[in-house]
Amino acid sequence: MSGTLYVVGTPIGNLEDMSVRALKTLEQVDFIAAEDTRVTLKLLNHFEIKKPMISYHEHNAREKGADILSRLQSGENCAIVTDAGMPCISDPGEDLVRLCAENGIDTKVIPGPSAAISALALSGLSTSKFVFEGFLNPQKNARRDRLEQLKPETRTIIFYEAPHKLCDTLKAMYEVMGERKITLARELTKIYEEVVRTTLSEAIERYEQKPPKGEFVLVVEGIQQEEQSISFEQALELVRALVDKGEPLSKAAKDVARQTGLKKGELYSKFLEV
Ligand code: SAM
Repeated sequence: MSGTLYVVGTPIGNLEDMSVRALKTLEQVDFIAAEDTRVTLKLLNHFEIKKPMISYHEHNAREKGADILSRLQSGENCAIVTDAGMPCISDPGEDLVRLCAENGIDTKVIPGPSAAISALALSGLSTSKFVFEGFLNPQKNARRDRLEQLKPETRTIIFYEAPHKLCDTLKAMYEVMGERKITLARELTKIYEEVVRTTLSEAIERYEQKPPKGEFVLVVEGIQQEEQSISFEQALELVRALVDKGEPLSKAAKDVARQTGLKKGELYSKFLEV
């Protein structure tokens, strides 16, 4: 009889988040497929678990996937873990689960923390409907194109980002999506855990002054319905309101263009015309 693949969630920082069931599973399986065996060895040592491991990551997934499948078919049980959080979520595992499903291998999940859901829960933004975007493409044009596609999204959007790319990503978001609420969840469950609930423009200012460190999840508010359906005339009214408040026309047109997705030049010239 074939064995079972257990998809095991591990802590995203605080080892006390390791579940009793996750520990039992790691103790009971025949072997562990780990994204980085050195990282998982530290986790196993902490909990005094001794278990054979093989490495399974994005660069060896095809070859190691076949090995794992054949061991499962011969009756061994395997647990897949990654460096932190839930396997398969911006982490290795998806291909292995699919391979097992295609070959009739039993798969079970041992749920654990995920940075995305943890950040969403703390975000203070709408949690009733959301989408997970994971890492944006670091290449400038591809990232911009993707953000353009996401601009009309009304649901809350969750991104992962590395600290050294954070400022560029925030700037690209602001340029393409306009002003939005954003929650930056940093180092969740760790000593320097921090949740910053702010706007895109303020976040840019903040992290340009103080270079970001640690792991980040960005939770961005979806487009608000009224912004999505705003007419040109209504947008002109917004420009007028800002100008009346003393804002220079070019800045007012730029801000409203960002907010509404309309063209700055058109708002500017129409405003002068009327
Ligand atoms: N599979 C993992 C999960 O379920 O959360 C995510 C793995 S992904 C390769 C790593 C990214 O998750 C990091 O770059 C960061 O964006 C986010 N992340 C992981 N741990 C985090 C933490 N403790 N606090 C904030 N973000 C974290």
